[in-house]
Amino acid sequence: MHIGIDLDGTVTDPQSCFHYMNDALGYTIDYQRATEYELHTYTTMTQHDFWKFMIEHGHEEEIYRRSLPHTEVSDVLWHMRKTHRLHYVTARSEAVRSVTEDWIKQQALPLDSLIMTGSHDKVGVVQDLSLDLFMEDRYENAISIHEQTEIPVLLFDAPYNRKPLPHGVKRIASWKEALHYVNRFEANRSISTR
Ligand SMILES: [Mg+2]
Repeated sequence: MHIGIDLDGTVTDPQSCFHYMNDALGYTIDYQRATEYELHTYTTMTQHDFWKFMIEHGHEEEIYRRSLPHTEVSDVLWHMRKTHRLHYVTARSEAVRSVTEDWIKQQALPLDSLIMTGSHDKVGVVQDLSLDLFMEDRYENAISIHEQTEIPVLLFDAPYNRKPLPHGVKRIASWKEALHYVNRFEANRSISTR
């Protein structure tokens, strides 16, 4: 299978960027109560002004550089890579490709394919690469990918994405659970195409 994998909050620990907001920028966000995905909503800035500030002060690269990996992600991705093609599909822009690739290498994660969309719209990439399954943590992405392409989506649970899900989008709590569903989906697929 060709599997699409989001980076922030999926491969990275979803708490990472909130820690950065608190430790480096002086905010006091309680991750367990963080119901909003967009970081600018925790500031008084607009989204445009927030990311302008982040880029101009070097915080954008630093927040990615300091990210921590999600628990067990390395073991599971290397295991999946034996039988599947893995494609990282991130909303990060091409401007941060080198810091992103360096981080992936530092974490000793597989790196074969990295698509940087520069926007939250990932549906086109899913279609272009004919992906069979997608893993996400942003609620709106999970819903739109599933609705527009009909592929199954695994949504990594986080306080900011706890809303009702349609059949076909599965909430999961860990990479071990992701592996379980990938194996199950692959088994069902081979039965249905036999
Ligand atoms: Mg994400």
